[in-house]
Amino acid sequence: MQSMENELRNALKKRQFEIHYQPQKSVKSGRIVGLEALLRWKHPDKGSIPPMDFIPLAERTGLINEIGEWVIYEACRQNKRWQEDGYDPMVVSVNLSAVQLDQTNLIEKVKCILKNTDLDPEYLELEITESMSMSNEENILETINGFHQLGVSVSIDDFGTGYSSLKNLSLYPITKIKIDKMFIDGSREHNKTIVKSIIHLSHALNMKVIAEGVETKEQFAFLEREKCDEIQGYYFSKPLPPDELNQFFLRSG
Ligand code: C2E
Ligand code: MG
Ligand code: MG
Repeated sequence: MQSMENELRNALKKRQFEIHYQPQKSVKSGRIVGLEALLRWKHPDKGSIPPMDFIPLAERTGLINEIGEWVIYEACRQNKRWQEDGYDPMVVSVNLSAVQLDQTNLIEKVKCILKNTDLDPEYLELEITESMSMSNEENILETINGFHQLGVSVSIDDFGTGYSSLKNLSLYPITKIKIDKMFIDGSREHNKTIVKSIIHLSHALNMKVIAEGVETKEQFAFLEREKCDEIQGYYFSKPLPPDELNQFFLRSG
């Protein structure tokens, strides 16, 4: 039997990875403005393996750099394809791991991918988590600035679960904050207070704010009332393979 590590090592070559995309909807216009790229491993025996079950191993072995680069490439390629098919342009967002951020040539790689796929940089967003944004501060500021100069936006994922320095948050050219789904459960009164505060904070810092993990009508109504910019969650759509998404998209012109 092959070890999981060996299987992971060969998964790219064997084309076992797939990206599902979860729509992000503008609360105001009701339109899809973005899609989050979420990686799936279609294992020949074990079926679909969720990212949380293999990304840590990919990080430990360094394989995440190669896999992560493929995700950025594939998401950009697919997004360009949708634009060519005549759908209204959307931003595709890709999760980055801390290990990837440590690569000195990451910005160069992203630049190359944009060139090769011919995707306009404004339609790519990269997600980093709160804890990533606060470690190795000098390096991270340089990297975020590098993306900004390329025209690629950066968002903070799982906001509220780590700790962030408000000073750094205001210094980095971050365009969007993603409120972690744990706070969207409005049955806990203090979660509502936290969500309201994050929305105010984001807007005060001139950033957009999106709520993750929105599952019910009530949650959506609350977020709409509180002027959250965008929502993402099962209430609207699960992450889906590209061919199942077309029904959600609008054609321009
Ligand atoms: P994330 O970036 O915070 O992604 C959101 C997760 O919440 C996704 O899980 C998504 O399927 C799930 N989700 C979306 N809406 C709902 C909802 O309404 N309710 C609930 N309960 N869950 C919802 P998924 O796809 O299993 O991904 C888990 C995590 O794995 C991601 O969290 C991200 O941190 C990581 N990940 C996924 N793809 C990649 C990738 O390409 N590279 C890296 N480095 N990490 C990835
Ligand atoms: Mg994410
Ligand atoms: Mg998240």
